[in-house]
Amino acid sequence: MAKTKSAWSKPASEALRATKKTSLAEFNTRATPGFSGDSNQAAELLTERGAVFAALQEKLYANGRSGGNRSVLLVLQGMDTSGKGGIVRHVIRAADPSGIDHTSFGVPTEEEKRHHYLWRINRALPAAGQIGVFDRSHYEDVLVVRVHNLVPPEVWGARYDEINGFERDLVDGGTTVIKVALVISHDEQRDRLAERLDRPDKYWKFNPGDIDERKLWPAYQEAYQAVFDRTSTDYAPWYLVPADHKWFSRLAVTELLIGALEAMELDWPPADFDVEAEKKRLAQS
Ligand code: ADP
Repeated sequence: MAKTKSAWSKPASEALRATKKTSLAEFNTRATPGFSGDSNQAAELLTERGAVFAALQEKLYANGRSGGNRSVLLVLQGMDTSGKGGIVRHVIRAADPSGIDHTSFGVPTEEEKRHHYLWRINRALPAAGQIGVFDRSHYEDVLVVRVHNLVPPEVWGARYDEINGFERDLVDGGTTVIKVALVISHDEQRDRLAERLDRPDKYWKFNPGDIDERKLWPAYQEAYQAVFDRTSTDYAPWYLVPADHKWFSRLAVTELLIGALEAMELDWPPADFDVEAEKKRLAQS
């Protein structure tokens, strides 16, 4: 804990939170806002703080099992190769899998296309006591959909307010919503795609379509900027996490999760049985 305090000058939630001034065009994707440590320190902290996250997650799970209504939804967005999968593998894995509800959202299936875009999102929301992790999310419906004109502008244009209302209801129902944008630079993406093409063990991660999407980088930047401008709310703010350094983005997301869970101020659920009587019964058994 002492090390963490010295390495973070302010909580990650403060250092990374989107503000009215947030400008993606001016965003430094190699910076480590609020954190003065280096990669070695970050790796050490990731282990230490991962254990803190796991303990808090267990408490959330216990509360859910005992009738509590709280849950967490971690929304992960970012351009291809930004490290969304790595967050799941390196951050979320610290927790007990039975308390994690992970969903990846790809191109909508035929069935999903027949429904409202929030239909598949609703079905994947975390139950009480769970941490839901969305690898992509309803935000694709104002990102890829906007960039590729998959629906007319008036249709996607109405979605920002709709998403805000949807998230308001989620929060009112006991879910803490943490929205993370993993922000990489255009150059960093090229290097990561090149690595996938250089290493046979990474071919499976390469999708030729990623290069087509890369060509649309400016349009995506614009679409992301609109997301931050229009859907970063008091109740469900966006956090912009510089992600050129994976060691930073993973540590930062760990801190965001810890902050959110601590803010819930959960206690261990009290026994719903007579502890002393059970001890006596056990002794006699
Ligand atoms: P990833 O690229 O994240 O590893 P996939 O290969 O499954 O995973 O790709 C997901 C793709 O699905 C992305 O290109 C994304 O833009 C697309 N997608 C996600 N949601 C939607 C949506 N609502 N409409 C159209 N495309 C979507």
